[in-house]
Order: sequence, then C-alpha cells, then structure tokens
Amino acid sequence: MSGATGKLCPVKGCTAHAKPNQLMCWPHWRRVPKPLNRAVFDTYADARGRELGGEARIDAIRRYREARDAAIAAVEAKEAEERECPSSPDGKHQIDTSMESGPHHCFHCEANMRPDARVRG
Ligand SMILES: [Zn+2]
Ligand SMILES: [Zn+2]
Repeated sequence: MSGATGKLCPVKGCTAHAKPNQLMCWPHWRRVPKPLNRAVFDTYADARGRELGGEARIDAIRRYREARDAAIAAVEAKEAEERECPSSPDGKHQIDTSMESGPHHCFHCEANMRPDARVRG
C-alpha cells in the first residue's frame, strides 16, 4: 500500500510513477475529464470504506474499477488523438541520425522527416 515512489502510471506508454494513493501520474491525472475524475474519487472512497461489507463492498470495488478504467481510457484517447508517431512512447517522431534508413528518419516508425523529402537528387 505504501511506497515512496508509488506504482507505474497505468496510461499506455507512460513511464512516470503515480504518487501513493494516486491513480496515475499528475500530468495525466490532470487530463482526466471532470466527471470521471469525480467518479474515481467517489467510488474509491466507497471501495475503501470500512463501513461497507459483503455485497456492497464488492459492488463498490466494481464501480471503482469501472470509473478507473474509464478515466484511463479517456486519457489514452486524448493522447492517441494528439500522437503524431504511432510507435514512439511519447507520441512524437524522434529523428535519429544513426538510423540505417537515413539521417532524417524517425527512430520509432521510420517515417521520413526530412523537410525536403519530396525533392530528390
Ligand atoms: Zn502518466
Ligand atoms: Zn515516428
């Protein structure tokens, strides 16, 4: 339950750590739409609530998981929309001059990033 660094952020491709008691890293958490953000808080409180027992507790945990998954999916959808490179972990093309395919190609997807790619010769 406790740990100085927390667990890995569950958003796909994110290598940041979530703080203890946080669902995801702070930059990603901030991107969760308000209603989903609130749903996670509310259901989390219920799921952790010691006054709930048996079926009610199981139901609360299920609702928390749904809210959590929806929040993660919402952030991942936003990231996917903004992503320019399909293979890069941070969503951005990364030009690597040591690439075999050429000095202007993306390290991750090998797209040609040369500004004058259309002009040859
Ligand atoms: Zn993250
Ligand atoms: Zn790329």
